[in-house]
Amino acid sequence: MNQKKKIRVAIVGVGPVGMIMAVKLKEAGCEVILCVRNKIKLNLIKSEGITLEGVMESTTFFDEVYGSIEELIEAKVQMDYLVFSLKSYQIEKAAQQALKLSDGELTVVSAQNGIDVEQLLIPVFGSDRILRMVINYAGNLSAPNVVKVTFFTPPNYLGSIDDNRSEKAEEFAEILNSVELHTKAIDSFELLKRTWEKTILNSSLSALCGVGRLTMAEAMADPDTVELIEQIINEAVIVAEAEKIKFPDDFIRRCMRYLKKGGNHFPSLAGDVINNRQTEIDYFNGKIVEYGKKHYVRTSLNLAFTNMVKAMTNKNIASRIPGAAGSFARGIIKKGIVKDKKSSVIYQGGDCFLGVDLGSAYIKFTVIDEKQNVVFRYTLQTLNRDRLAHRQVMKAIHTDFDIKYSCATGYGRKHFIESDIIKTEINCAAAGVSRDISGEKTIIDIGGEDIKVIHCDENNQVTNFYMNDKCAAGTGSFLSEIAERAEVDVSEMSRLAANSVYDKELNSFCTVFAKTEIMQWIFDGISIEDISRGIYLSIAGKVAKMKLLPDVPTVMIGGVIANHPYLGSLLHEKFNREITIVDEPQHTVSLGAAIIAQKHWMKKQYKKSNQEKIEVK
Ligand code: ADP
Repeated sequence: MNQKKKIRVAIVGVGPVGMIMAVKLKEAGCEVILCVRNKIKLNLIKSEGITLEGVMESTTFFDEVYGSIEELIEAKVQMDYLVFSLKSYQIEKAAQQALKLSDGELTVVSAQNGIDVEQLLIPVFGSDRILRMVINYAGNLSAPNVVKVTFFTPPNYLGSIDDNRSEKAEEFAEILNSVELHTKAIDSFELLKRTWEKTILNSSLSALCGVGRLTMAEAMADPDTVELIEQIINEAVIVAEAEKIKFPDDFIRRCMRYLKKGGNHFPSLAGDVINNRQTEIDYFNGKIVEYGKKHYVRTSLNLAFTNMVKAMTNKNIASRIPGAAGSFARGIIKKGIVKDKKSSVIYQGGDCFLGVDLGSAYIKFTVIDEKQNVVFRYTLQTLNRDRLAHRQVMKAIHTDFDIKYSCATGYGRKHFIESDIIKTEINCAAAGVSRDISGEKTIIDIGGEDIKVIHCDENNQVTNFYMNDKCAAGTGSFLSEIAERAEVDVSEMSRLAANSVYDKELNSFCTVFAKTEIMQWIFDGISIEDISRGIYLSIAGKVAKMKLLPDVPTVMIGGVIANHPYLGSLLHEKFNREITIVDEPQHTVSLGAAIIAQKHWMKKQYKKSNQEKIEVK
C-alpha cells in the first residue's frame, strides 16, 4: 500500500510555545524532532515526555530528542520544517549553527512574537523559505517538561514573509488546525499587521508589569497604570500608522478590553525582568521606539520602559530587591493572591460560582467570585469532537477555583448533568445584564441560531420575551453562511463594511435564497465592502422590525454583536436611539448563570443556618 510520507518537523527552542506546538504536531501525526539545550529538561523529556496541563491536557513522548543543533547535523536528521521557538535574542546564533541544515526544500518557521524577529533568520535562510507565525497561545512552566496552558485566543496567524511559500503556510496551518491549535494562513501584508497588533498588545503590559512588579490583572485594576497602558498603545498606534499599518478606529478600546482578560500572572517578559534574565524588550517596546525615530514620532513612554528594563537587567537590580529573582512568585503566593497547590495554583478570592452557557454555536464558561467579579472566561466551539476539550476546561476550572455552585443554561443545558441547577437563557440574560445595568430595559440577544428580545421591569424581572427560533434569518449562522458564499472573512467584515456607503440590503431572509442573491451581487461586480454592509443592513432591518418599548434603554448581547461591532453602529442609526453593548457580550448569559448559581447557593446556606438554629433551640 502506498502510505503517505509523514511530515517531519524539528523544533529548536523548547519553552512553553515550543512544547505546546511539539505536542500538537505529534497529535496531528507529524514526526517531531526536538532540540533541547538544557540537560535537565532534555533528560526529563526523554524519560517522562512533555505534559500539558490546564485547558489542553496530555502527556506525549518523543523518540528523537537532541541536545544541540550540532547533534542534529551530525545525525543527518531529515526534516521538512525547522521551527525556531527561541527567545528573539537567541535566534541569530542558533540560525548560524543551523546553516548546514539549510537545503532548498527546508521550510523555516519563526515562531516567536515581536517585530522583525523573522528578519534575524534571513541572512542564513533567505526570505523565500521563511514562514512567520504570530502566536496567540501561552503557557507557564510548572516543571521543566510540564507546561500549564494559560491562554489561547484563536487563531494564531501564519504566512510566508515574501509570499513565496504560501502553500507551505497553508499546509502547516492545516496541520495545526486538525488538532484545534487554530491557525490562519494569511498573506505577507496581513502578517505584518497581525505582527504589529500582537506586539503592541505585548508591549503595552509586559515592561510595565516587570518594572512595577504587577501581575496583568493588578496592572489592569489600577486607574493609574491603566492610563499609562493606554498611552503606551497610543504611541505605538501612531508609529504603526507612520509605517502605513492601519488599525480600526476603536483599536485602543479593543486592546483595553482584551487586556482586561489578563489573569493574575506575569507576562513572560515581566517574569524575565523579575528573575533577572535577559529580556526581549528590543523586539517589543524597543522596536516601537526604533520605528518612531525613523518617522520622527515621539515615543516617550515606550522609550522610558525600554531603557528602564534594560538598565534593570544590566545592573542586576532585581537580585537586590527582597523577594525577587525566582522567589517573587512565592512572595505573591504568600500575599494570598494565589495559593500553592502542587503544580497548580488556586484562586484565593474566596468562594466561586460557575455559569456554563451551552449555545448552538459556542459553549461559554464564566466563573465569578463572591463579589460577582469575573475571574475566568472561556469559549469553546459546540462540536462533538470538542467533548474532550470541554472536560478539560471543566477540570481546569475545578482545579483553579473553589466552585461552590454551578448553573447551566442554553440550548444544550439539559445534557449538562454536572451542573447543580439549570435555568433558561432568558433568565440568565436578564441576570447577566442587570449586574451592571439595573432597572427597566430591553435586551436583544443575537446568537448562533436565534434572536431573543427580552423585556425586564424596574426590579430586573423578566416581564415579556420574544424569540425568533423558527428560521435562521438574521442570526449568527445566517451571517456566517452568507459571508462564506460572498467569500468575506467574518473577522474582517466590520472593517470592510465601515468603508462602504452602499445602501442596498438583501431581500431574502431564507439562507438559500439569500445566497443566490449574493451570487447575483457578485456577478454585478458589487465590491466586497458593499456586500459586507449589505449583509449587515439586512440583519439590522430584521432586528429593527422587532417590538421595542419606547423610552426604555436597549442593551445588546450575544456572539454576533461581540464579533461584528459595525452591526451595533447600524442598529444605532436604524433605531435612532442609544444602544448599549455590554462588555464581553458573548459571555453575558454565562455570567448571568453564574450569578443565579451564587444566589441559589446563598439561599441554601441561609436555609441551612436557620435549620441549625432551630435544632440548637
Ligand atoms: P450561541 O449561544 O447560539 O452559541 P453565541 O451568542 O455564542 O451563540 O453567538 C454565536 C455567533 O456569534 C456565531 O454564529 C457567529 O456568527 C458569531 N461568532 C462567535 N464567535 C465568532 C468569531 N470568533 N468570529 C466571528 N464570528 C463569531
